[in-house]
Order: sequence, then structure tokens, then C-alpha cells
Amino acid sequence: MSDTELVLRSTRVITPEGTRPATVTVADGRITAVLPYEVAVPSNARLEDFGDHVLLPGLVDTHVHVNDPGRTEWEGFWTATRAAAAGGITTLVDMPLNSLPPTTTVDNLRTKQAVAADKAHIDVGFWGGALPDNIKDLRPLHESGVFGFKAFLSPSGVDEFPHLDQDRLAQSLAEIASFGGLLIVHAEDPHHLEAAPQHGGPKYADFLASRPRDAEDTAIAQLIGQAKRLDARVHVLHLSSSDALPLIAEAKSEGVRITVETCPHYLTLTAEEVPDGASEFKCCPPIREAANQDLLWQALADGTIDCVVTDHSPSTADLKTDDFATAWGGISGLQLSLAAVWTEARRRGHGLEDVVRWMSSRTAELVGLDTRKGAIEAGRDADFAVLAPDETFTVDPAALQHRNRVTAYAGKTLYGVVKSTWLRGERIVADGEFTEPKGQLLTRDN
Ligand SMILES: [Zn+2]
Repeated sequence: MSDTELVLRSTRVITPEGTRPATVTVADGRITAVLPYEVAVPSNARLEDFGDHVLLPGLVDTHVHVNDPGRTEWEGFWTATRAAAAGGITTLVDMPLNSLPPTTTVDNLRTKQAVAADKAHIDVGFWGGALPDNIKDLRPLHESGVFGFKAFLSPSGVDEFPHLDQDRLAQSLAEIASFGGLLIVHAEDPHHLEAAPQHGGPKYADFLASRPRDAEDTAIAQLIGQAKRLDARVHVLHLSSSDALPLIAEAKSEGVRITVETCPHYLTLTAEEVPDGASEFKCCPPIREAANQDLLWQALADGTIDCVVTDHSPSTADLKTDDFATAWGGISGLQLSLAAVWTEARRRGHGLEDVVRWMSSRTAELVGLDTRKGAIEAGRDADFAVLAPDETFTVDPAALQHRNRVTAYAGKTLYGVVKSTWLRGERIVADGEFTEPKGQLLTRDN
């Protein structure tokens, strides 16, 4: 083992065995040991003592739309990864759409990797996309290291990323299962969306009615059926409808290989509070009622929902018009996700250990990075966030690192101030000061 270069100490280190006073030793960018708090520090090692601030594993956000290259006026690798670092995230996995090109061929993946390489302040991996016409590209993309494949079951919002009907879904899923891959799915059924009342305009209630729960429930039921038939591994993206929870719980109990994520906005914002015309709150599926939110929290607690990811999906401010039907659908949350989720988790009696499980350990597992990321234990990368969990701040859009400072959280007071973020043993941001980009491009472990 290499000599210890860095020693991190806190009275509250979140480890897989719980939170305790500990000393964490680091060499060559990896954690070498988690030791008792009082252990002697080697004389040649640098000591960083965080006192009572919490040392937690850097978050792993597996659902981010960076949009680079092609729609860089919406977001880009430089701004997205700085925002993520400021929010305690040390790994993100980029969604295959909204960039031009989308990540649907190996050539396109290479283009994306080349663009990201010297802009990444945190580690970055890539999802591939499953389109109606790219089944032949799925295996080569898998072999090139994408973490899995995203598909839409209803229109995606951009023309270059068409959705799969049930036949195409079956074909793509069979192909992905043939090489042991993962399909991640935007699950809203297009027929239920078409049948729903489409009034448009500024009223949030009208928008909510246009994206009903049964669109999600039906698509998820169909996905479960396909996964079961093909013994394929599937993941439900951004679950909003609590009505789908019993279906998911039953599928899991039957051994269907399905995992589920939800997002900070479904867990912390409610339909009742969205002002009419406020399309910074628009996303698909939509933010639903408070009673729905309570059930999502219960499902996180009992494991029906596995993890929490941002679905950070920004656009320029001019596309966030006051007509919910035509405004861009997507919520920016990268920098605020930890604080937003922690604030509500705390209020509901959950611990920071739970938040770490949902936002770091389980997401690392989802993409097979759990030998490197997602926990403070020997052998993993020395990726950390240092958090003052009882300090509050009021969200000021001007303080965001996102390219477009549009946020549904403006003016909210949140618990949890990230004091510094560390990537492979280097402090990459502290007090708003960033180092040069030190992120690496990640590929799926073979
Ligand atoms: Zn998304």
C-alpha cells in the first residue's frame, strides 16, 4: 500500500456501518483506511480536520442532461460539473439526449467524450440512447462503456430522439438483455397522454391534468411485463405517480429485475404551491399533490424506490414561458439537490445516512460503480462532500453555477451547506472557489 498522503478527520463520518467519529486515510486518490478518530497522523501526511462538519461520500447523480455539444446555451460540461461540485456531487452520468448529437452511436459517444474531457470538474459517465432505428448500435455502445440505454415511451421533447412503441421496446430490450445491459425508461404511455385533456395555458392544474398518473402507471405496468418476459434489467426514471408503487413493489417481490428513481422536485415541491404561469416548475412527469409526495417518501423508506437523482434538465430562460403546454419541461436542480432532499428528509425524521444511501450508494450500484464510488470505505475513490447539515441558506438564483439561473427553489430556505467537495483526494471546490477541472471520464466496468 502507498504511504498515506492525506488524512481527513471528522466527528461525523458517514460510513456503511453508520455515522461515527473517524479518521480517513488517503493515498493515490483512494481511501486506504477508515480508522478510529484518535489515531496518530503520520508525520509526512497532510491533516484536514473538519470538526463537527459531516464527511459523506460524494454524491453520484445518474440523471443529468448536460446538453453539450449542441445546446450549450442550455447547459454545458463546464457549468454543469461546477454546479454539481458546489452541491457535493462528485460523479454524474449524462443523459443521451438534448445534446447534438445524441449519444446513440459510438461515433456520437466519442464526440461527447471529446467535448467533456477537459471541462469536467467531476467524474462523468454516459448513458446511451435506444431509438427506433439504432438497435445495431446498442451492443457497440455497450462495449464502448456506456452505463446503459435510455428510451422514451412517449415523445421526448426533441425531434432527434424519437420514442419506442411497445414492439420496438420489446426488440431493443431483447437486444440489451442479450448482452446483460440495462434499459432505463421514461415511462409515460402516449395513448393516455393523448386521451388526457390538453388545455394549455398558464394554469398548473390544467398542466397536471394533461399528464395524468395513469399514463405513468400504464407504461410502468407494460415495462414490468416486458422485463419479466425477457428476464431483462430495467430502471424506471423519475417516478412521480405514487399509484404505480404497488405494481413496482409486487414486481420486486416476484424477482423482476427493476429499480426505480425519483427526484428532489417530486419529494420537496407540491402541485398545490406552483403558481400559475411558473414554468420553472414544469417537468414530465409533473410535480403532483402533497398526498402523492407523502407516499413517495414512504416508498423511499421501505425500499420500493431505490434512489434519488436530479433529472437536471435546464433550458434558456426564454423557453420557460408562462404557457405550460409549450414551455420547456425540465427542472434545474444539480447544485441544490442535496440541500433540498436533506431539508425535507430531516423534517420527516430521516437521517443523513438515508440521504447518502439514496443519492450516493444506490446510484453507484445502479451503474455498477459501487467498487469505486458511493461509500467511505477502504479501496473506494476519495470522493467526499463536507457538509454543515444544520446551517441554512436561502436560495439565490445569482449564486447558482448552472448556465441558466432559472430555479424552482428560488427564495426557499434550505438546510445543509456544502463546505467543500473532494475528488480523488483533491479539494475541487471550497467556499465558491474552484480548482481547474480534475474530473475523469468513466466507462462501465467490464
Ligand atoms: Zn431526464
